[in-house]
Amino acid sequence: MVAAFAIAPTPDEARVKLTTVLEKLPTPTVTLLEKGDASFLHEERVRRGDTVASLLTRLGINDREALQFIGSNRQTQEMARHLRPGDTLGAKSGEKGKLHALYAELPGKDAMLVVERRGDGFEAHEQALQLSTRVVIKAGEIRHSLFAATDEADIPDAIALQMVAIFSSEVDFHRDLRKGDRFSLVYETFSDRGQSIRSGRLLAARLVNDQRVLQAYWFQGEEGEGAYYAADGSSLRKTFLRSPIEFSRVTSGFSGARFHPILRSWRAHKGVDYGAPMGAGIVAVADGVVATAERQRGYGNLLVLEHQGSYSTAYGHLKNFAKGIRKGVRVSQGETIGYVGQSGLATGPHLHYEFRVKGRQVDPLAISLPRAMPLAGALLGRFKASSKNLQAQLQLAGETTLAAIE
Ligand SMILES: [Zn+2]
Repeated sequence: MVAAFAIAPTPDEARVKLTTVLEKLPTPTVTLLEKGDASFLHEERVRRGDTVASLLTRLGINDREALQFIGSNRQTQEMARHLRPGDTLGAKSGEKGKLHALYAELPGKDAMLVVERRGDGFEAHEQALQLSTRVVIKAGEIRHSLFAATDEADIPDAIALQMVAIFSSEVDFHRDLRKGDRFSLVYETFSDRGQSIRSGRLLAARLVNDQRVLQAYWFQGEEGEGAYYAADGSSLRKTFLRSPIEFSRVTSGFSGARFHPILRSWRAHKGVDYGAPMGAGIVAVADGVVATAERQRGYGNLLVLEHQGSYSTAYGHLKNFAKGIRKGVRVSQGETIGYVGQSGLATGPHLHYEFRVKGRQVDPLAISLPRAMPLAGALLGRFKASSKNLQAQLQLAGETTLAAIE
């Protein structure tokens, strides 16, 4: 049965080379994932549509008895029912794919479920988490899509999406990515006795997008919330996002024209159409207040947000509005406000997006937008000191990947 889940060998070669070079980094604060363990300790993220059998196969396990135990034990059944895409599972295996141990974090419990081989059989028990943090550096190059690249570099979705969010005022990840774009990331992971459990915060990111170099460093001053800043201390948070379509695995394929913005002549059209799958999330491009949420002839279900200054944005042809969205409600940047549909005069599912200044449509792709306040004075000094090390690591990671792949 398990043998039916044949999989292609993973393209490990580039990663192994990368790690080998990175280990020479003279930075004691950074612990790298040790690839030497990989033949015995595997980690896999749950994908949509996964079954326990498909997960075990990806974990390199080929063990009929283990599969039978996991399918019939009450605790493992319970664990399997709660698995969600993005969760991480770890497994230790021996020769010929025999399972030695399986680890799964139990959501909301501060514990993990451990399945271990005991003599001829298996046993399952819960174990309290002893979390420790480590910092990981990864790099990749975009060939087909962002997620294909992060999958190949074994970067968790949560970290990939943090990078998207951080640069989303600079880059429309649906439209601006190019083959050959490169990224390097420094992020925290939490592990329990050497076993990765989940990813934490992205600490630094570098993205080379179409020859433009973008950098982001997490920094927290003495008070208030932390935020991301460019190397010179300027804020990466802008008042408007570049794209109103939520970035996800579903909407992320930039090479397959299907979900691309349909760029009609803007002059005649007074808006930008984003082709996207029915039901894809639409986000508020800036903080604002809902001015309109109703059906309007050609626009179909139309949402209009008023933002500070004299800006407003309009979103047409919606399938429906997000829960709680109605006239007068306040929304935050990045919040889901509705879903892509084809209501009104639309031939297929897409979002009609308008950017308005004093009620007049302007081309959102051409406008330059205000930024949040930069760091200054003593805070800027502290930021520069704290980001220096990260900056060197990012730079090196980026260069190393290229060298390793070519
Ligand atoms: Zn349109």
